[in-house]
Amino acid sequence: MTDADPYMQERHEMVERQIRARGVSDPEVLEAMRTVPRHLFVPPDLQRLAYQDRPLPIGGGQTISQPYIVAVMTELLELKRSDRVLEVGSGSGYQAALLGRIVDRVVSIERLPEVAAQARKNLQRAGIANVTVIVGDGTQGYPEEAPYDGIMITAAAPGVPEPLIEQLAEGGRLVAPVGNRDVQDLVRLIKRGGEVTSTTFGGVCFVPLIGRHGWRERFYDDLL
Ligand code: SAH
Repeated sequence: MTDADPYMQERHEMVERQIRARGVSDPEVLEAMRTVPRHLFVPPDLQRLAYQDRPLPIGGGQTISQPYIVAVMTELLELKRSDRVLEVGSGSGYQAALLGRIVDRVVSIERLPEVAAQARKNLQRAGIANVTVIVGDGTQGYPEEAPYDGIMITAAAPGVPEPLIEQLAEGGRLVAPVGNRDVQDLVRLIKRGGEVTSTTFGGVCFVPLIGRHGWRERFYDDLL
């Protein structure tokens, strides 16, 4: 993020070609993507691929999502600076970093302690100080800081976990990939007057959300 950033040019091109050209227009989202150094959120040997139009492995069988999908999901949250945001599935911490650039306060939950530790390191190196990474089962939310104006789930959910709907503020938005283990639809819920409305967007493909209100862990252990 200094003048010496060797990837600045590539990052700006990523935003123009992969994000803006495909219709993402929220200026805050575009600016966050221009400033957050995505290459600091991928393993060192994959840094040169950090600005390509694809997800990348980050260790522990997990992935950092394709930049375009990250942008679309962030835009769907319709954030403003004073919003409080919860992310479920910290992974690399990249999505959380973008959220942290757009709003004042972000809590991100990760179930795998070693993945959470790496996310914290990545966020620190990127100079993001308003994101707290917590180890736990994000399908149960994080009631300590609820309610949230925005909630984003970045792992594939069989359905939207009930505790997360409960922890959504009045007027709050929740974005999640909902479907089966192979393919999901992007879903956005909005809570108004205690009622929740749901809109479905295009198909996506995420690693599974594993937890009390997600998929069972056992099933995946059997496959590994
Ligand atoms: N948002 C991430 C990518 C997420 S990959 C990024 O920007 O890099 C999905 C992550 O969700 C994985 O790290 C996985 O371990 C985590 N995860 C799966 N189930 C979870 C749960 N119940 N609670 C919290 N994290 C979970």
